[in-house]
Amino acid sequence: MHGFLWSFHRDHHIIPPQKDTFFQKNDLFFLIYAFPAMILIIAGFAYAVTPFLAIGAGITLYGLTYFLIHDVLIHRRIPLKIKITGGYFAALVRAHEAHHTGKNVKDFNNYGLLIFNPRYFRK
Ligand SMILES: [Zn+2]
Ligand SMILES: [Zn+2]
Repeated sequence: MHGFLWSFHRDHHIIPPQKDTFFQKNDLFFLIYAFPAMILIIAGFAYAVTPFLAIGAGITLYGLTYFLIHDVLIHRRIPLKIKITGGYFAALVRAHEAHHTGKNVKDFNNYGLLIFNPRYFRK
């Protein structure tokens, strides 16, 4: 996302976030991942190729995790009444907020979504 596909991810880092539209160019990653995942799952079932199914399921689980953790839990693009007060998920949100403090394409840290520096467990 911060490499050759930065042009799709860049608008996710615009501060303040865009309010005039729900969708971001960054959402194109869902299509980028969904299309090969669907092909792999369909081909996996059609030709009984277990590795295709496993890879397709893995891509799908990654996309679901990215949507639920990144878009819903962290960025609250879909309203969520759950308040995170501490523990792993609070640290995860702090780590991702640190990712968003970068000022240009080279100045970002915490690329990992689920795995991050343990210092974010401290407030
Ligand atoms: Zn980023
Ligand atoms: Zn983000």
